[in-house]
Amino acid sequence: MDARITIIGAGVVGLAIAEKVSEDFRDVFLIEKHPAFGQETSSRNSEVIHAGIYYPKGSLKSKLCLEGKKLLYDYCNKFEVPFKRCGKLIVATSPDEIPILDNIRNTAIGNGVDDLIMLDKNLIAEMEPSVYALQAIFSPSTGIVDSHSLMKRYETNTINNTGQIVYGSEVTGIRKISDGYEITLLDSDKNNYKFTSSVVINSAGLTSDLISEMAGISDESLKILFCKGEYFRLNPPKNRLISRLVYPVPVHNLEGIGIHVTIDMGGGVKLGPDVTYLESNNYDYTVTLSKQESFFKSVRKFLPFLEYEDLSPEMAGIRPKIQKPGEPVRDFYIKEEADRGNPGFINLIGIESPGLTSSLSIANYVRKLIRI
Ligand SMILES: Cc1cc2nc3c(=O)[nH]c(=O)nc-3n(C[C@H](O)[C@H](O)[C@H](O)COP(=O)(O)OP(=O)(O)OC[C@H]3O[C@@H](n4cnc5c(N)ncnc54)[C@H](O)[C@@H]3O)c2cc1C
Repeated sequence: MDARITIIGAGVVGLAIAEKVSEDFRDVFLIEKHPAFGQETSSRNSEVIHAGIYYPKGSLKSKLCLEGKKLLYDYCNKFEVPFKRCGKLIVATSPDEIPILDNIRNTAIGNGVDDLIMLDKNLIAEMEPSVYALQAIFSPSTGIVDSHSLMKRYETNTINNTGQIVYGSEVTGIRKISDGYEITLLDSDKNNYKFTSSVVINSAGLTSDLISEMAGISDESLKILFCKGEYFRLNPPKNRLISRLVYPVPVHNLEGIGIHVTIDMGGGVKLGPDVTYLESNNYDYTVTLSKQESFFKSVRKFLPFLEYEDLSPEMAGIRPKIQKPGEPVRDFYIKEEADRGNPGFINLIGIESPGLTSSLSIANYVRKLIRI
């Protein structure tokens, strides 16, 4: 075998896996089609370290988010990756939303998030004087992270562990052979290469369903639907009026958790993301200018100082959803596929939020699935 372990996709999850497995194995390869890491979903998100409040009890999303949050804070401290444990408010702006806060708190406690604090109007005014809410939940363990620096650190540690990262090479074929897989690559000069690997880890984000199909696993329930999330920016100087993350109570089915307000490490403030399933799986990162009105209206409920002109288009990201519109929330799919005739082939599909928060716990989980 040319490689012991091959990871496909250098997003935040593939990079974390590469760092982890290169601690224990030689001949680890991370293959990425773009010329650098994090060119897709991993650089188009809210950069929030989620507390693990909303996810269904017992799900991987819940378990890996909680574990991942702790690991990530420790990792950022150890390797000096910029982060801020700024906390988050979930706000009720009308009396009918107040019981929903109780439900959220109970779900969170069931998930092991036991640090939430209920705030009344006065406490909210002390913490965030510019925010309007009748009642709120404060989550002290929610934070933000500089995702580029995090990925850079995963990359550096992988290389220091003698892992090899191959940029500008797209996986175009995977063939099962007697004791592993033969992988075909297409490089940026349009040359094809083949190599063999005992273990293959599919961490290809938006096209992870196609990678799985290349290996002979086709499964309708793992088809990815591109689900776009757009953001608007809160222009200076009003960005200075907010110092924590502020979320409304979540919408039905957790397709998204409502247009919220996030801050970043540079002091910028973003509104979003919304949730739009794209009709076809194309990389449409445009921001729809006509949405400014609906963003403005939904956020103005809890940011009463907001004027329409305070917003400008920011960016968009795409969620790799396996949950179809209107369906109940789906969990991360992370599995070694021996029972489908593909031993040593590990699929990660539907790694949407909280994938960034969970990157280190996902890496630990995947490490345990490797049996060589
Ligand atoms: C709008 C939005 C907001 C979000 N906010 C948060 C948040 O605040 N907190 C949080 O925890 N999570 C958040 N997430 C989720 C988080 O961004 C993702 O879970 C995470 O980035 C997924 O990382 P990944 O490595 O799995 O995928 P990706 O970043 O998509 O990486 C996959 C990589 O695989 C490569 N690839 C694909 N096919 C091939 C091939 N054939 N050959 C070689 N390379 C290939 C791609 O080029 C890509 O670089 C958000 C997501 C979105 C869309």
